[in-house]
Amino acid sequence: MQRYFVKYNNQDIEFLESDIHHITNVMRFKVGDEIEIVLEEKAYLVAIDNLHPLKVHIVNPILNDSELPYDLRVYFPLTKSDKAELVVQKLTEIGVSEIIFYRASRSVVKLTNEDFNKKKERYKKIAKEASEQCHRLKVLEISDLINFKDIKDHLASINLLAYEMDAGKTSSLYHELENINGSISLIVGPEGGLSEDEVSYLTSLNFKRVSLGKRILRCETAAIYGASVISSYIEQK
Ligand code: SAH
Repeated sequence: MQRYFVKYNNQDIEFLESDIHHITNVMRFKVGDEIEIVLEEKAYLVAIDNLHPLKVHIVNPILNDSELPYDLRVYFPLTKSDKAELVVQKLTEIGVSEIIFYRASRSVVKLTNEDFNKKKERYKKIAKEASEQCHRLKVLEISDLINFKDIKDHLASINLLAYEMDAGKTSSLYHELENINGSISLIVGPEGGLSEDEVSYLTSLNFKRVSLGKRILRCETAAIYGASVISSYIEQK
């Protein structure tokens, strides 16, 4: 069933203009039809009372918690927009709570904060639509673009560095997650890999190097694969 993220405006349930358009013109819902909404991270089945203006009432709460048991944040380097868009969509579906795009020394793409903020609007839209499609209770957060050294301000309980030089060794990803009791972060390097300086900086911040298997993955695959393995592990733990 179609799901929409909404908010309260005083006591009224308020939809985004684009969602009102989707409900009335694209889906062509009628009075009496039921849709799902997410209000303050809780899902409800609602019935449509009126279309212009759109009014709904809550039929019942929906009790399925589709969020991961621990917050999972992914640091992703600046790359071409189509890769970033793919990663935003897939990481949303996997249950990641936040993506932080960062500048790496070997990033081929260089962007000013202003350029990034324009792209960020598009990424936010993709994240919202993907969150609705996969029935999440939260929309994946997309932070402002940061410089590499600022990673120190965004640490989690467990910080993992996907490091391709360890490829071929037994994956220690599960091992690092064994004693998990809080948030996790995973950093993936750019196409050209992370420089030695960047790797030693992350190690000094207590990032643990993990292998994502014997093959060298493209950075977007590494982010999607790494987040999938972590999500699968913590969901069945
Ligand atoms: N420059 C490197 C590849 C970089 S791959 C080369 O050409 O050899 C891009 C990023 O994906 C890496 O920085 C790393 O974070 C991640 N990655 C890719 N394959 C990986 C693997 N097998 N194990 C761990 N991380 C990997």
